[in-house]
Amino acid sequence: MSGEIPGGVLAACDLDGTLIYSSAALHRAGHLPAPAHSGDALVCVEHYHTQPWSYLSARAARYATELARTALVVPATTRTPAQYARIQLPGPAPRYAVCSNGAHLLRDGVPDPGWHREIRRRVRASAAPLPEVCAYLQHALHPEWPITLRVAEQLFCYLVSSHGWSPPAAWIHDLTHWAQARGWALSATGRKVHLVPAALTKSAAITALAHRTQARLVLAAGDSLLDLDMLRQADAAIHPAHGELAAIGWSHPTVTRTRSRGIAAGAEILHWLRARATPQQ
Ligand SMILES: [Mg+2]
Repeated sequence: MSGEIPGGVLAACDLDGTLIYSSAALHRAGHLPAPAHSGDALVCVEHYHTQPWSYLSARAARYATELARTALVVPATTRTPAQYARIQLPGPAPRYAVCSNGAHLLRDGVPDPGWHREIRRRVRASAAPLPEVCAYLQHALHPEWPITLRVAEQLFCYLVSSHGWSPPAAWIHDLTHWAQARGWALSATGRKVHLVPAALTKSAAITALAHRTQARLVLAAGDSLLDLDMLRQADAAIHPAHGELAAIGWSHPTVTRTRSRGIAAGAEILHWLRARATPQQ
């Protein structure tokens, strides 16, 4: 498998809020109409119900194509495999991907069943059952709040708010402590609050894949608390100046932060990854 990695470099990249940005996220950041505002055209990478849904910048698209020549680019996302399948990144389709926050390790679009069984075993052994978490949330959510509870693959759950509304910070704070005491982790980004078993991590899947492919250098990029382990465990990593990690002022000696924010940070991240993945002459 080592021959699959150009130069032995594995670049694990979160997608939403790191490389790609939904229409809603662009509106929030004041990036639409983007071509006039940012001076860098948008490339649509996802359609949902026939509508254009997610984008990266043209500069980011060029860097992504170049990065794929010198590194094994591995999208690492909390999206389920079905949600991930909607995305068409520039350049050749990534050979590997991590979906459902680490529950699925995909090769050529096909999940590894052995990995998935092992993750379900780890989650059962260390976290309160999903129905207990959902029941607590149903009780804790105020009926008038414009927020919807969704369950992904009977593994984890997330809340989706209507545009322009977020749960109170104190409520999130209390829910975080409730979840942590039961082996769960919470991440609040944009319109979504994810509740994920703490044993369900992107970092575990990336570490396993790096071992399988005999990577000599692991790079990573991500914007949320669900990416923190992956960034910390990489040899070098980067996170955007916007997002959950930036908001809490998180830093780590091997993790750098972009100068730019919003969709421009996606291009800066890919430029940074490309520079580190390119062999020095
Ligand atoms: Mg993200």
